[in-house]
Amino acid sequence: MEFETVIGLEIHAQMKTKSKIFCGCSTEFGAPPNTHTCPVCLGMPGVLPVLNRRVVEFAIKLALATGSAINRENRFARKNYFYPDLPKGYQISQFELPIAEHGRLEIDVDGERKFIGITRIHMEEDAGKLVHDDVEPVSYVDLNRTGTPLLEIVSEPDIRSPAEAAAYLKKLHAIVRYLDICDGNMQEGSFRCDANISLRPRGQKEFGIRTELKNMNSFRNVQLALEYEERRQRDILLDGGQVVQQTLLWNPDRNRTEPMRGKEEAHDYRYFPDPDLVPVMVDDAWIEEVRQGLPELPEERKTRFMAELGLPEYDATILTASRELADFFEAALAGYDRAKKLSNFIGTELLRDYGPERIGECPVAPVQLARLLTMAEEGTISGKIAKTVFAEMLATGTDPDVIVREKGLVQMSDEGELVALVREIIEANPAQARQYRDGKTKVIGFFVGQLMKKTRGKANPQMANKLFQKELS
Ligand code: ADP
Ligand code: MG
Ligand code: ZN
Repeated sequence: MEFETVIGLEIHAQMKTKSKIFCGCSTEFGAPPNTHTCPVCLGMPGVLPVLNRRVVEFAIKLALATGSAINRENRFARKNYFYPDLPKGYQISQFELPIAEHGRLEIDVDGERKFIGITRIHMEEDAGKLVHDDVEPVSYVDLNRTGTPLLEIVSEPDIRSPAEAAAYLKKLHAIVRYLDICDGNMQEGSFRCDANISLRPRGQKEFGIRTELKNMNSFRNVQLALEYEERRQRDILLDGGQVVQQTLLWNPDRNRTEPMRGKEEAHDYRYFPDPDLVPVMVDDAWIEEVRQGLPELPEERKTRFMAELGLPEYDATILTASRELADFFEAALAGYDRAKKLSNFIGTELLRDYGPERIGECPVAPVQLARLLTMAEEGTISGKIAKTVFAEMLATGTDPDVIVREKGLVQMSDEGELVALVREIIEANPAQARQYRDGKTKVIGFFVGQLMKKTRGKANPQMANKLFQKELS
């Protein structure tokens, strides 16, 4: 039997505001436990939350960037449950009337374009953190994170494979980074994802029973966990069994999903409007003001790269995959204006080691790359040597001029110098020379290769070709 996979993602993005959503405490990560707290985020009685206007502004940004409909009247609701990391006994979230609904995101998988629906975007506060002792059977509570603003983005169950899920996640990640509303750090949990997955016989309309996966703190783990769960559910269904609806945790050490223990499973959150907070009214003027301040988004930048620079869609898609990469590309372009050549070089030599999300860690500055490619363009070094030099730049961050000078990599373009070597090589290989003269001109490649070997890649290849042709005829 053939199955179709159905996936829907719930993503939590921590907003990059200076202060928390309902109090003035700092949102800074990594401070000593419980130092960024006050009576409001500690859930003391007799204090009132006050909404951080910036959070609404960020939510409007994301709503606009995802083509979502913005609700002019917004309400906050209490989501009630008990857990030690939630001092109030309820989380302030949105239930009915979230900030935005009915959006969509375009993804590309294997050259195929597709829209994934966004059910809703809502604002809420984060909970605290439990720190479990490695040795003693005790847990500590750190409430620094309590009240950190979050946007939750819930997708429609439109995703049909783990690869599509990863593409959707990366796209949304790119957008929050372009908008500069979330730092996107998955390791620290400022961008996290719960994945719902089910299988159904191909052709069936109703969805199958789903499981919810948690604890995946990288794009790769999200895809791995979904692939594992897809196989697990298929095996159960093929055996005639039933998938149990439950929450599973990804175990990255054992590469498998495992049932979650402890935390209560079936919740009745008893949502009700929070009487401490007034409805938030969003008017057209505010939306317009936010729209005016929107930066160029990935799709727009991609279109511009194609129209202005004549880049193929494939290149433009890759180069705009993250804001850092697109910025890096444009900064390098300022010093080396051959867009397609630059794109090729980045695509093969840079992205191999530093993916779009990791450009910030790359030790090579855009001007250094521009300088390197200019040296190749001007013939100071060969294209092949440029790659070697770049590898060295990636390892050490050294300027290309210094590497080329210190290692003596300047291209040999002196005819007199090269012609002696060319003659030497022809003499040493009479059989190949005869082949060439008998019309098998392809052996020229062999001769050029020999010269490259002798000069350790420094001979100018065009000149080598010309010289061999001349000397062999
Ligand atoms: P909750 O997890 O709170 O019950 P929802 O029922 O709204 O919330 O669903 C959460 C996510 O699960 C959404 O992204 C939705 O698209 C997805 N989803 C719902 N049903 C299925 C299903 N049968 N298979 C896969 N994903 C699903
Ligand atoms: Mg859920
Ligand atoms: Zn506080």
